Amino acid sequence: MPHNEIEHSMNLLRKNWRVDPIISDFMLGKINKVDDYVIKINKVIFHIPFLTQFKKFVLWKCFWPDCNNCCDRQGRLPLTSDDIILIGKKNKYPQTSDFLNNETLVTTWNELSPHGQNIMMATVNLKRKSHETDSDDGKHMKCRFLDQKGYCMLHPNRPSVCYLYPFSVWLENKKNSINVHSTFQFTGDCPGFYTSRKINPIKNILHQYSTIIYNYCMDSNRTSRQNFSSMVFN
Ligand code: SF4
Ligand code: SF4
Repeated sequence: MPHNEIEHSMNLLRKNWRVDPIISDFMLGKINKVDDYVIKINKVIFHIPFLTQFKKFVLWKCFWPDCNNCCDRQGRLPLTSDDIILIGKKNKYPQTSDFLNNETLVTTWNELSPHGQNIMMATVNLKRKSHETDSDDGKHMKCRFLDQKGYCMLHPNRPSVCYLYPFSVWLENKKNSINVHSTFQFTGDCPGFYTSRKINPIKNILHQYSTIIYNYCMDSNRTSRQNFSSMVFN
């Protein structure tokens, strides 16, 4: 994500939250002595930034219900095939095709992999506003399912990707087995990042997310096999 977009998001965030200057500099790429601390929890290999100059980890916790920024500034809601069936049924669409026609958009976009490779993605996305069009893809907007009190009206059947934030995931094919990797997305929209000399404060969270992340990866893989999404490396 370009630094000017992250800076814009952080300027908005600062209106309601204190942002640690170290976190701010890190997200804007101004701290370059960063080690990749790798910790495997259950079936997921987590990559946690360690700022060597400050001898501190970058960790995260969620402030919901005091914060709902990730729903207030949503960029895109790609659906897995399980999401398509479940959310369609819960939204009173007996026919999945009607749900797809009325409530979703197919979009393509480019993304950089953690190794700097360009990936062209194509996904079925849940519309974040009723009249969302292709040109809205990737733009931050308030999700139509966020209610006045900060609750998701689809919960617990919200898109799997909503359970994932602020983690991002990727798969690695190694010796004919698949490794699941995860790290944080630093978009500047989440006030939950902080620094800590110890890794321990996040361990319970990583345990909890390891299941969510692993299941998400398997669902995404199935979605791709069922041709509801595709990923092309350029
Ligand atoms: S923006 Fe961050 S802190 Fe706020 S609800 Fe989302 S994940 Fe939690
Ligand atoms: S579907 Fe629910 S959890 Fe996901 S962005 Fe919208 S309001 Fe937030």
